[in-house]
Amino acid sequence: MEAMRRCQPKTIFTDEGQPVGDAVKMVMPEAKHQLGLWYVRRNASKYLPTYYVQPRFESLFNKCISDCHTEEEFESTWSSLLEQFDLHKNHWLNTLYKSRVRWAYIFNKESFCAGIRCSDNIKSIFQNLMGETITLQMFVQQYFKAAEQQRREELYEDFHCNESVPEMTLDYGLVEKHAAGIYTHTVFTAFQKELHKVLSVALREISSNGPVSIFQLTEVGLKKSTVEYNCVNSSIVCSCKKYESVGVLCAHTLKVLNARNVIHIPPQYILKRWTKSAKDGVVADLYGQEMADKRQQAVHLLMRKALNVITKGVSVNESQNIVDNCLDMALKRVEDGLGRRFDVNWMSAEGAEKGAVLSSPNGALSSFQMDFGIRSSGGGRCNKRDMEAIEAERASSRASDDEETD
Ligand SMILES: [Zn+2]
Repeated sequence: MEAMRRCQPKTIFTDEGQPVGDAVKMVMPEAKHQLGLWYVRRNASKYLPTYYVQPRFESLFNKCISDCHTEEEFESTWSSLLEQFDLHKNHWLNTLYKSRVRWAYIFNKESFCAGIRCSDNIKSIFQNLMGETITLQMFVQQYFKAAEQQRREELYEDFHCNESVPEMTLDYGLVEKHAAGIYTHTVFTAFQKELHKVLSVALREISSNGPVSIFQLTEVGLKKSTVEYNCVNSSIVCSCKKYESVGVLCAHTLKVLNARNVIHIPPQYILKRWTKSAKDGVVADLYGQEMADKRQQAVHLLMRKALNVITKGVSVNESQNIVDNCLDMALKRVEDGLGRRFDVNWMSAEGAEKGAVLSSPNGALSSFQMDFGIRSSGGGRCNKRDMEAIEAERASSRASDDEETD
């Protein structure tokens, strides 16, 4: 919570249990608390081992979890599950039913879960930490190891996004091009999948009232979806709620936009968290924590900008020279600027006497060097206080050399 500036997540997935539920309510009252599907399935195999291995049971149970499209369908599927296997009195299933709004898809299709709900990512990160004999110390060690791996992958993804362009699959796909320019590669791949599905979706306009039109979309073998589109403010809502849940427009909405000759993603449907510029303006250290120090923040923002220029610059030979020249020019102008400020302070007896560290070029540089562990290579001009400090250091070093020689 501290690392995220006490900003609560939109959704949190946990295992079942009253204590964890109470803790979430107390610490993250604004977050939507859901049960992770991996936990639900694991608990089903634990509490109902003889039933869970039966294909018919598993298929009905999975339908309740993720394939019911109306509440009525969920209720009737749940009833037939209890009926067929005579499980009306099963304590675990009855408790699970009471918390159905926390795990069944039909009650949560509008909750933002960033695609985690239907993926196995959680399992792959934490599956090795779930052994019943694991100690708390081992859990923490493995947790840090998993977190470090995640950060490494994120850094790789950042670098990959900056220095390469994803492959386009449509010759004149302006929406595809727009998405490739703004989204990270991973999100672009998810978007591209939806774009490809557009070809297998049939569209029928069912009503129109001023700027608002309603369409029915049919995908082979799947339920029909309804899309409402307002051409004045470009608002578009689909009954499948994929955008609300994952943050990427679905094939149905893309089909309608295409039919209405909209060749870009409406800006209100571009989540900043999925874009290449998601971290712009956010300064984080190696552990993802926002830095409090203003000067460190400024330095990191500039470093990020410079890294962006450099990674883009090296991808094409000609632009490498442009980057090189610009960096030389920037360095010269900064040194000239620092030199002028230094000369003014050096000429002023009062300024020299005060020896204000931040107003002197070497003060600023040495402070920067200390912040980032860079040792001075010598040279350059020093102010009075720096000279005294250097002399004192030299004297102390000479004295220790003499002692060693003795
Ligand atoms: Zn949809």
